Amino acid sequence: MQNDTILFELLNKELERQRNDIELIASENFVSYQVLQAMGSVPANKYAEGYPGRRYYGGCEVVDEIENLAIDRLKQIFNLSWANVQPHSGAQANAAIFQAVLKPGDTIMGLDLSMGGHLTHGSPANFSGKHYKVISYGVNKETGLVEYEDLEQKALAEKPKMIICGASAYSRDWDYARIRAVADKIGAIVLADIAHPAGLIAKGLLNDPFDHCHIVTSTTHKTLRGPRGGVIMVRHDFENPWGIKDPKGNTRTITQLLDLAVFPGIQGGPLEHIIAAKAVAFGEILDESFTDYAKQIVANAQAMAKAFVAKDYNLISGGTDNHLMLIDLRNKNITGKKAQETLDKAFITLNKNAVPFDDKSPFVTSGIRIGVPAVTTRGLKEDHVIQVVDLIDRVLTNADDEKMIGDVREEVKAFMKQFPLYPELG
Ligand SMILES: *Cc1c(COP(=O)(O)O)cnc(C)c1O
Repeated sequence: MQNDTILFELLNKELERQRNDIELIASENFVSYQVLQAMGSVPANKYAEGYPGRRYYGGCEVVDEIENLAIDRLKQIFNLSWANVQPHSGAQANAAIFQAVLKPGDTIMGLDLSMGGHLTHGSPANFSGKHYKVISYGVNKETGLVEYEDLEQKALAEKPKMIICGASAYSRDWDYARIRAVADKIGAIVLADIAHPAGLIAKGLLNDPFDHCHIVTSTTHKTLRGPRGGVIMVRHDFENPWGIKDPKGNTRTITQLLDLAVFPGIQGGPLEHIIAAKAVAFGEILDESFTDYAKQIVANAQAMAKAFVAKDYNLISGGTDNHLMLIDLRNKNITGKKAQETLDKAFITLNKNAVPFDDKSPFVTSGIRIGVPAVTTRGLKEDHVIQVVDLIDRVLTNADDEKMIGDVREEVKAFMKQFPLYPELG
């Protein structure tokens, strides 16, 4: 087929959808046009198994420079001694950590999935829950905050080899120093998974995990606003505490084990076009303008949280420190599932989400998760997100009124026209 009109029409349709919608999925963002260009670029054709200067294929001189540029920029952003930019996703980055520092059957500890944790932190449906013994910590029923006291008791009793902090649906900052103090009592490694708030941490708007946590992983496509992918980061390298050896029986530092775990441990050839796009995104983060962006994210999230509370919405923990909020809809008599589906009809996109101590199934849920990184990229400011809260409230309080939903949809489309997306694409 010479011109794949079928597929390219679908791409145009998706562009139209993204332009029309109010995008509130907390894990999504819009990459810049130059990041988009890098993603669709010629290193897509290149095999480069190995690392810069140590590849298993010829012709890697240029991709070596690309990958080194991405690594150098990432090190600069977070003041790191070492980074690996090859993980294809956040889940892959986490899988590499397990592979590097644990043996199947070892005990790990993470935030319970139903309390805001991630699948890769020990869910029974995931490799992390299938091949490792898992103990979970949670949040307090009243305050919605992580129960550090309970985490400490459980950790001292069960002695996990690794404690994971970080979450997918937690609106408050983390006490990394406190978790490290617990880990040091039992000789555990601390992994911080900053997949969600990394862009805010990059600009000093949240606590810095790197001095307290041995290893830090992140996605690159959430608040970092880069291509879909993952990274592994270390500020202070260390000898591995259990004398874990590489497959040939040599003793290694943690960063050597981490490199081996990504390749050849769990991945083959890296996606050098995506690594090129990561380099572009990291360059954007180093620019002063990203500081304004990150500050606007926090300002928007706080304005939105306040507007929801004023309308009697029940926010877990009462508000937010970061880019997202979790709302318990039980006092509004609508499930998370129905809320998501109804808002979808009005071109407002978000996801249903379990709330802590939810009595409904993960397919239904009692809540929704809302994040502002994507709309902040579109250019929305505090006044605008307060208008968005009004639109959401109108839909949720009239969820069976098709006419009302249709009216809101037209308003949403007109509203988002003020914030052009990819004008370069015509
Ligand atoms: C999004 C997320 C991931 C996984 O990222 P993928 O790229 O979807 O694999 C890992 N950990 C946390 C905490 C996340 O929120």
